Amino acid sequence: MAVPQWQGYAMNVLLIGPPGSGKGTQGDRLAERLNVAHIAAGDLLRDEVENGTPLGERVGELMRKGDLVPDAVIISLLMPRVLAAADRNGYLLDGFPRSVEQAVEARKLAEMASAGPDAVIYLDVPREELSRRILARADVEGRSDDNPETVRNRLKVFDEATHPLVEYYRERGLLHVVNADQDEDAVTAEIMSALESVG
Ligand code: AMP
Repeated sequence: MAVPQWQGYAMNVLLIGPPGSGKGTQGDRLAERLNVAHIAAGDLLRDEVENGTPLGERVGELMRKGDLVPDAVIISLLMPRVLAAADRNGYLLDGFPRSVEQAVEARKLAEMASAGPDAVIYLDVPREELSRRILARADVEGRSDDNPETVRNRLKVFDEATHPLVEYYRERGLLHVVNADQDEDAVTAEIMSALESVG
């Protein structure tokens, strides 16, 4: 099998997109293809809530309402994992950063360790399709934040806090916009082809 050009050095990728854009699914696939650690912010937070840890107690209600958890909480949970992964094969980080403030803070911490992102993938999906996907997923996964009221808030939080990251990363020459309104295989193929030009 041909060796992809990124093998042999650590590749660090951020996956950003609105709720329902397929971050989790694409994150799993990409981490495997790129042979890097998949770090999913939402999954790590849900584990804390399920295990009833002090951190979980602090964030459970915010997550149920679809609000962001405090920056200091998510940064202290993720950054040790991000730095450790960057030191090995690299990372595929989904769901973080979720605001320009988080990106700036993470950059300060990552820069010292040369652990910043090499590429940022933005999963672009029309609004009607997002709502349809999330409500379909609600029946299967049973997430407590996949109900119509919370979904509305999560989309609003995305527009206000997270979407400005698109410009932030475009200005830094790291952004790749991918059409995520296609079947899963086509989305993965488009991302992989965008990443071929990186590095
Ligand atoms: P997700 O699984 O990525 O949709 O995240 C689920 C929930 O976890 C979000 O609605 C937020 O409440 C919280 N969350 C995930 N990532 C972050 C983050 N980077 N900053 C703040 N809150 C987050």
